Amino acid sequence: MDCDVVIAGGGPAGSTTAYYLARQGVNVILMDKCTFPREKICGDGIAPRAVRNLYKMGLQERFDGEFNKFHGFRFAGAGKSVVETPIPRLARFPDHGYIVRRVDFDKILLDYAREHGVQVWEDCKVTEPIVEGGRVVGVRAKQGGEEIEVRAPVTVGADGPHSVLGARMCLLVNDPQFLGISIRQYWEGVEDIGDYLEVYPEREVSPGSGWIFPVTRDGVANVGVGAMLYHMERDKISLHKFFETMIHDTEHVAPKLKNAKPISPLRGALLRCGLGGSKVECPGMILVGDAASMTNPVSGEGITYALETGEMAADHIMGSRMSGQGFHIDPDGDSFRDKLVDRYQHYFNHGLMSIKWGNRTSFMRPLLAVTSKNAAFRTYMVKSLMYLKH
Ligand SMILES: Cc1cc2nc3c(=O)[nH]c(=O)nc-3n(C[C@H](O)[C@H](O)[C@H](O)COP(=O)(O)OP(=O)(O)OC[C@H]3O[C@@H](n4cnc5c(N)ncnc54)[C@H](O)[C@@H]3O)c2cc1C
Repeated sequence: MDCDVVIAGGGPAGSTTAYYLARQGVNVILMDKCTFPREKICGDGIAPRAVRNLYKMGLQERFDGEFNKFHGFRFAGAGKSVVETPIPRLARFPDHGYIVRRVDFDKILLDYAREHGVQVWEDCKVTEPIVEGGRVVGVRAKQGGEEIEVRAPVTVGADGPHSVLGARMCLLVNDPQFLGISIRQYWEGVEDIGDYLEVYPEREVSPGSGWIFPVTRDGVANVGVGAMLYHMERDKISLHKFFETMIHDTEHVAPKLKNAKPISPLRGALLRCGLGGSKVECPGMILVGDAASMTNPVSGEGITYALETGEMAADHIMGSRMSGQGFHIDPDGDSFRDKLVDRYQHYFNHGLMSIKWGNRTSFMRPLLAVTSKNAAFRTYMVKSLMYLKH
């Protein structure tokens, strides 16, 4: 064996898994097909629950004062109204999040894992798992034009929504019920933004939902729109058309962009949501983060769950050593999926149900209007959306 654990993917899920393992003396190799810093298509919103995880890892000083914090949400309400809701003060969660471009965020996490002893191999593309006797015993990869093999008792697939490892082991389920697509573009000169995440289920982009997330206080923002695949198929909608409509012809978003201009290409990516689309594990291997279908179906937020499943995976792998056989992942004995289901399925199921209706503007905006009149409702809404429980 070349190491104890080999991880494919150096996004938040892979880096967090690697960090927690290396901190406990485990010999980890993490491979990523890119060289960092690298772009990742995202809204860049780091929610309070994710911030709690970052602070727990000891990363507070790398974010505090360095990046724009947000302290609440602005939602489009009925008519032209806007509902402003602060993040509630809760004992177990910070009252803020951050907006950090992923080009910066992911490098901070990857460097942190490296500082804790993880061997990081960049520009190293995993091509397939090595399978022997029905067990994954490592990966094949291409690095600098050369084919390599790394063998390990445990393999972790943190390689995002198009996970090569998950696909090759038939763990991914491509059901549109659990798939979303979002597109985003950076803009400068955006007006009237600051320390709120702005979320706009505008009538013209229903059943999708638009956003403006302020990257800086001086008008640079991440602007995007997303929708579930089954809504898009049903209503035959194009996200690019939605985006055009949103920036030119909507009540809330268009006025803010009137004097602004785009500073990056418009780019999109797939989201795997609600844990429903992935089987997560097979002998010798587990999936984490987007590969494990861990995006919140309502908010599209996946960084929280990438960080949390990374930590849970590290615990699961450490626990597997208790059997006395060394590191040994075996879903029949101790199931990682069961742990994810226990912690998240109930919450995600509510989300999956509510977006069947809730992304419809006709339902969402009057609801927001009613909610806006009652502080307790507003707090409940933010706590539910951001999963500020447990
Ligand atoms: C437009 C959009 C907006 C979003 N907005 C938000 C938001 O505001 N807040 C939020 O919390 N979430 C958001 N999300 C979701 C969030 O981006 C993901 O949930 C999160 O990135 C998941 O992290 P991950 O580490 O699992 O996967 P990823 O971040 O996708 O990382 C996977 C890594 O694996 C590497 N990789 C892939 N294939 C291979 C291979 N074969 N070999 C080696 N390496 C490989 C990739 O280079 C990458 O570094 C958004 C998603 C989209 C598409």
